[in-house]
Parts: sequence; structure tokens; C-alpha cells
Amino acid sequence: MATATQRPKVVIVGAGFGGLSALKTLGNKAVDVLLVDRNNYHGFWPLLYQVATGQLDSASIAYPIRGLIHSYKNADFQLADVSGVDFAGKQVQIENGAPIPYDYLILAAGSAQFYFGNDALAETTFSMKDVDQAEELRNHVIAAFEKAQTETDPEKRKQLMTVAIVGGGPTGVELAGAYVELFKYNFKRDFPSLDMAQARVILIEAMGNIMLPFSDPAIKGPSPLQKSTAKVLEDRGVEIMLNAAVDSVADNVVNFKDGRTLAAGTVIWAAGVRGAMLGDKLGLTLQRGARVQVNEELNLPEHPDVFVVGDMAYLEGFKWGDRVMAYPQVAQVAVQMAKQAAENIMVIAAGGQPSKFKYKDKGSMAIIGRNAAIVSSSKPIPMKMGTRWGTFFPGWVMWLVVHVMFLQGWRNRFVSIFNWMFNWMNKDRGVRVMTGKVDEKTEKLIAS
Ligand SMILES: Cc1cc2nc3c(=O)[nH]c(=O)nc-3n(C[C@H](O)[C@H](O)[C@H](O)COP(=O)(O)OP(=O)(O)OC[C@H]3O[C@@H](n4cnc5c(N)ncnc54)[C@H](O)[C@@H]3O)c2cc1C
Repeated sequence: MATATQRPKVVIVGAGFGGLSALKTLGNKAVDVLLVDRNNYHGFWPLLYQVATGQLDSASIAYPIRGLIHSYKNADFQLADVSGVDFAGKQVQIENGAPIPYDYLILAAGSAQFYFGNDALAETTFSMKDVDQAEELRNHVIAAFEKAQTETDPEKRKQLMTVAIVGGGPTGVELAGAYVELFKYNFKRDFPSLDMAQARVILIEAMGNIMLPFSDPAIKGPSPLQKSTAKVLEDRGVEIMLNAAVDSVADNVVNFKDGRTLAAGTVIWAAGVRGAMLGDKLGLTLQRGARVQVNEELNLPEHPDVFVVGDMAYLEGFKWGDRVMAYPQVAQVAVQMAKQAAENIMVIAAGGQPSKFKYKDKGSMAIIGRNAAIVSSSKPIPMKMGTRWGTFFPGWVMWLVVHVMFLQGWRNRFVSIFNWMFNWMNKDRGVRVMTGKVDEKTEKLIAS
């Protein structure tokens, strides 16, 4: 605990949605704040798929953290990879540097890809959890089509022109919708010698329906939103494989548990999420999805001065029909949890009692593609004449507005709006360039 003359020092690990929300709550208050992240930028992950599919450049969805702390006189930033926490000594341990002391700690290190115990899939598939990975994916798909251009074996050419996306959740759907447009509107012109009718985008889902977060507890089977998402995707050329559990991926062939196989030059893993790897290094018992169990006040039962929020945290209380589940790993949960954790720290520092977390569900939305998005809300959406669901063009406009609002920085907002308008008018995805990070799989492909 800080002495009477010292201000309490709050260390926030992670400058994502949770970390920034905590910073905003504690900014210019009677505490000293140190924000720690292994990157020097805040990443807006909901738009990562646009980097992967050539709509936006990576700088448009990343914002320098030091630019975000300007407005707070009590805040500073340290670039560091956090490797653990010494709870007894109240220090954050980092790679290559002196430990960072804290009075209160907020852990908001986000999530990692989950392979359901089959970690070999990390080597043979692409994932999309940060800007480097999104660039690697974009580079690989372009490289595969470049290779297809000179490939004389028709089967190999088809394989190179096939993108398989494992996981029919919002990320898989967004990617699938964007790839069919990229191939139809841009690659058709870019690669005139290729028969674009042979380009395939396949969305693979182990369950019986896609878009599980948009299911309706009152309906047995797919909800109207799930059905309409599948219809839009299929109308636009996406092939959907349901009840298709992936066993392994080797040499650009997806092997399914039921014995089927699928040859695809690009295989993307968008099927599972777990808590950040940092959680494994804390010496705590982890809950389902490798998430850290927290009290309703969002702190650790054993260490009340340590709070865990966002994708890393496990707390039950999310209502879905009759069921009560853990809060989902979405941006709104991270933002609201971090605000509550920061407020609790201020209250505890002043000698008061912390409050329990209460979530205000503002609904969810996902984009399917051009002029089509889905929105679900617990309240009526006016645009859909009083029903609970909004779809297609109004949903798409709403999606654009909300994402621009939450994007950090005016430059990024203007660049994104300009890109979207340009793309909407010309159907042109301008960032079809192979720059930045190149994955080993792509290097092998280019050299083959
Ligand atoms: C592709 C994709 C699309 C998504 N789309 C949506 C969407 O449309 N709507 C929605 O609500 N949610 C979406 N999400 C989920 C949403 O982004 C997360 O729920 C949200 O980012 C969680 O916030 P967080 O603060 O817990 O973690 P994050 O925002 O991920 O921030 C974690 C931060 O911690 C840092 N970090 C991690 N480990 C360390 C370490 N060891 N040392 C130092 N720093 C570290 C990271 O660099 C990062 O800056 C999407 C996620 C992804 C990956």
C-alpha cells in the first residue's frame, strides 16, 4: 500500500480495449499510472480482417500508445513484454528489464488463438490476432495467386486459388465475405489469365450452424440472423461446410475427422480463442479457455490488489436465455470490466468497498460483406420496425458508424472512411501489396 505522502501506483498490463478503458478512467486522477505493452501501439482488432483482405493498411488500425497518454498528466508508458507477476513482492516481471513495482495491478493482456489441444495447427495454418499476422495472411493469399498464374498443373492451380477458413464465427464470416469480393472485383482484373470461377472460399464449421453468437436461445436450430448470414454468403459464392471438424492440416491439405480432405493453398484458423499466454505464467488455477477466475469485483481472490479484465478474465454472469455463462470475449466486456476495475481501485485506495461488475449488453454486430451486416440487440432496433434484429444495408451502415467511433485517432478515422467510400464506389481494395511481415509458409511457396 502507498504511504500517506505517495500516490498509489497503478500498473496496467495491455493497451488494448481494456487497458485503454482503465487508462481513461484513471487519467488525471490521484494515482500514478503506468501502461505496459509489448507493442507501442493499440490495435483495433475488429478491423484486422480488412488488413488481411487489402482494404486497409495496418497503420490505419493501429495507434501509437504514447499519442494516447498525452492527455493524462499522471500516466506514462513502458514498452515491455510481461513475463510474470511476483504477487508477494508486488512487482511485474518483464523480459529484459528491471521488475516494475505496483500498488495496484490491472492485467488486460487479451487472448490467444486456441487449437483445441492440437497445437501443430499453429504451424500449418494462418491466424489473425495482430497486425503482423494480418499482413502475413494478406501477403500469402497474394503470393498464392501469383504462383497460380504460372502453375501449369490444373489441380495445383485450383489448390493455390482456394482459401479455407476454419471457424464459422464472426471473424470467419467477415474474412469469407471479404475474400469473395477481393477475388470477384480485384483479382479478376489483376490476374486476367486465371479463371476466377475456379477461386474458392470455403468456410468450415464443426457445429451444425455458423455464427453461434447470433443464435437465439428461444429458437431451436438456426436463428433468422444465422440463416440470413449463410444465405448472403452462399449467394455471394462462399461454400459453407457444416459439421466438419478439422483433424489436421498438412502440405496445404485439410484433413477432417470423418476422413474427408480438402486441398487449399491458404488455410486460416479462426476457430478458437483462449486467455492470453500471460495467464499461464501467473501460477494460478485457470478456468475454461485458460482464463483467470476473478471475483465479482474483478480482482483475484488471493490478491485483492490485482485485477484481471477483458479476454483474460473468467467471470460467470452473462445471461443467455435461461443459462448463465462466462462473459464473452468481446470489446464491450473488456471496456466495461476495465472501467469497473479502475473505479474499484480508486474506491479501495480511498478506504471504501469495491463494487460488483454489472454488464450493460449493447448488442453485437458483424459484417458479412458489401452492404450487408447483422446486428443483434436486446432492445428493439428502430430500423427493423421494432423487431430485435437488424440486417443488411442498415446494419452495414450502423457497423461502419460504430467502428469509426471506436477507432483511435482522427487520422485513422479519416483514412478508413476514405478507403471505405473509395471501395464502395469503385469496388477497389487498394492495399493489394506484399509488404511487411512474410510468413515461412509464404517464403516456401515463393521459393517452390
Ligand atoms: C480478428 C478479431 C476480430 C474481432 N472482432 C470483434 C468485434 O467485431 N466485436 C467485438 O466486440 N470484439 C471483437 N474482437 C474481440 C475483441 O477485440 C477483444 O474482446 C478485445 O480486444 C479484448 O480486449 P482486451 O483489452 O482484453 O485485450 P486486447 O484488446 O487484445 O489487448 C491486449 C493487449 O495486451 C498486450 N499484451 C498481451 N500480452 C502481453 C504481454 N505478455 N506483455 C505486454 N503486453 C501484452 C497486447 O499487445 C495488446 O495490446 C475481435 C478480436 C479479433 C482477434
